[in-house]
Amino acid sequence: MIILRVALDVPLPKLFDYRSEDATRADIGSRVLVPFGKKRLVGVIWDVATKSKVTDSRLRSIEKILRDVAPLPREWLALVEFCSGYYHGPLGEVAAAALPPRLRTGKTVPLPQRDYVLTPIGRDALAGTPPRHRRLRALLERLARGRASELDAQASGSRNLLRRGIETGWIASIEPERSEPRFVHAHELTSEQGQAIGILRSGLEKFRVSLLFGVTGSGKTEIYLQLIAEALARGKQVLVLVPEIALTPALEAAFRDRFPGACIVTQTSAMVELERVRGWLLAHSGRADIVLGTRLAVFTPLPRLGLVVVDEEQDASFKQREGVRYSARDLAITRAHIAGASVILCSATPSLESFHHATSGKYELVPLTRRAIDRAALPAIRLIDTRKHLSQEGIVPPLLEALATRLARGEQSLVFLNRRGYAPALACPACGWVKGCRRCSANMVVHLAAQRLRCHHCGLAEGIPRACPECGNPDLQAFGRGTQRIELLLGEKFPQARILRVDSDAVRARTRLEDLLERATHADILVGTQILAKGHHFERLTLAGVLNADSGLFSSDYRASERTFAQLQQVAGRAGRANLPGEVLIQTRYPEHPLYRSLVRHDYAGFAKSVLAERREAGFPPFVFEAALRAESTDELRAQRFLRSAIDQSPYRSASITVFDPVPMSLARLAGVERAQVLVQSRSRPHLQAFLAEWSDALYRMPSHKVRWHLDVDPIEF
Ligand code: ADP
Ligand code: ZN
Ligand code: ZN
Repeated sequence: MIILRVALDVPLPKLFDYRSEDATRADIGSRVLVPFGKKRLVGVIWDVATKSKVTDSRLRSIEKILRDVAPLPREWLALVEFCSGYYHGPLGEVAAAALPPRLRTGKTVPLPQRDYVLTPIGRDALAGTPPRHRRLRALLERLARGRASELDAQASGSRNLLRRGIETGWIASIEPERSEPRFVHAHELTSEQGQAIGILRSGLEKFRVSLLFGVTGSGKTEIYLQLIAEALARGKQVLVLVPEIALTPALEAAFRDRFPGACIVTQTSAMVELERVRGWLLAHSGRADIVLGTRLAVFTPLPRLGLVVVDEEQDASFKQREGVRYSARDLAITRAHIAGASVILCSATPSLESFHHATSGKYELVPLTRRAIDRAALPAIRLIDTRKHLSQEGIVPPLLEALATRLARGEQSLVFLNRRGYAPALACPACGWVKGCRRCSANMVVHLAAQRLRCHHCGLAEGIPRACPECGNPDLQAFGRGTQRIELLLGEKFPQARILRVDSDAVRARTRLEDLLERATHADILVGTQILAKGHHFERLTLAGVLNADSGLFSSDYRASERTFAQLQQVAGRAGRANLPGEVLIQTRYPEHPLYRSLVRHDYAGFAKSVLAERREAGFPPFVFEAALRAESTDELRAQRFLRSAIDQSPYRSASITVFDPVPMSLARLAGVERAQVLVQSRSRPHLQAFLAEWSDALYRMPSHKVRWHLDVDPIEF
């Protein structure tokens, strides 16, 4: 008897046995359609065996093996197994999440792209085809001139005509020609870049992690493009991971420009299902040369993988926040390890984890200290003490003056604040009432443009009340400032200026991000959130003003300062990229703060070292390892009770494991769900992993009535 051990997308940490007539070990990694209860599910064949622990009478048969896609390679199975083991998520759930949605269904997958040629019979047929069969003639004539790609052929005729042509033997489909990827050199390298490439090149074709650490504009992108070219020339495939927000068609276009002839595939969650699976199949079959994508792309099968690039490696969007909470940056490293490929992590402000590994010798540190373009000096960063310069509705006079100067010179400015909407709170000055979201433990944000109150956590929207529901006072006030309010204020101060707000509201309401960014190049003053901070180049931009940077200084989240530095440096990186020197003005009440001191000196390394010393002292990552058990329930007590009994059920632990008491999450209520967590820490990753493995076994056996729970390993939100 042949037994298939199948990974199914159900929340149970095990494989499911099925009977099959004709499967062999060659089917390991194939997708398979099986009955499950009253449903049919698509799973992945993980193993083929001859015996099962399930009694014969209860063993069900598979429906069929879906052989239209070649089996997933061993390396893919190994990565999914690692992810399931390390993050303690059921294998079947991880496997499903790692596949494009289309492949989680039994629906047909698109055929690989083919080329089309005319057969000798087709040639004769063309001669006999009367002119009134216009489209058929057009198609045959096109093919008579030479082979056509699928798109070309369909454009000349139609999908239907193409299919009928093949049936009648007039047209044949053939394997597409592989064009050799080329690389367009754009710049003479600076000597620093040359050195960096030398080091990185020596690490190609074996497992090695390098941290390419250089200020914005130091030419990191240029360096990894050259290394990609090198890897392609050696016949390798390359995986490039970028943060969610940075993956714009502009980046894809840049790749296409620099690598003509290369088969470049993108993988993001925003893609149409069919498009996503088409690209995935190209990668899986080995045809794609470069896969460019967000965190989910880390699971794209690549039989010839030689190099992985993770751009802006510190970015929080590499961490999955639902289901199995993997870090794509960390998985990329495991992935490269499995494939014997090298990894380049790029950042101007690396995560403290990566920075620590690079300075302690675990990773190769490749520093860049200067901007690539001679004339482009680093922007001058100035701190403006808001205790000395009284702000006029949120903007201090020196910043207003600097904006006026830029306007007069025809240069562009950016006013950055990380808060969208008009004001972050609506309150009653008479009785102190503040409008909260009824579903979340958060205030509702005033959106004047839409005349609504919105919760930025759950999306709830309401009309703006006319009077205080507590005391009837009709004079409610909007407290604090968001992008809309600053936009209006600047409009009053500079009526002649073209002002454009770029935040996710503007993107949603008006246009796509690319269009908005295109318009942004013509504006005099941009008011924007972090959407603007990353990766976009504005030639005329010479001033960046930052309004609410202080909010990140004293957060209870120990990672906040690292993020604040990264964000400010990114904002600073927008100013003065090409010919014009840039200036950055930061409004702050704490100009003496060490974070700002380092920022002004462009000294991320110094900042990182001092924060790492603090973390070592206080026992925070990367010097300890963490995991969180979270419970969610509509009833707060229930969630707490679950966590308490989970602690009672936790395995015997050595002194190396610390389990903290249950606490509410910092956003305790989200969309009507109460959230609490238990934090576990250890100085030893293996000890923590062993503890979690045992604990999660116990958790799956615990009754969890009306409570949802999950484990988050290496959590980044609390
Ligand atoms: P980073 O990724 O470090 O921010 P980029 O690679 O985007 O830097 O380079 C910043 C700018 O400098 C880009 O406009 C790029 O075209 C340009 N550049 C990079 N390398 C060179 C070079 N060697 N000579 C001239 N310009 C360069
Ligand atoms: Zn009131
Ligand atoms: Zn809400």
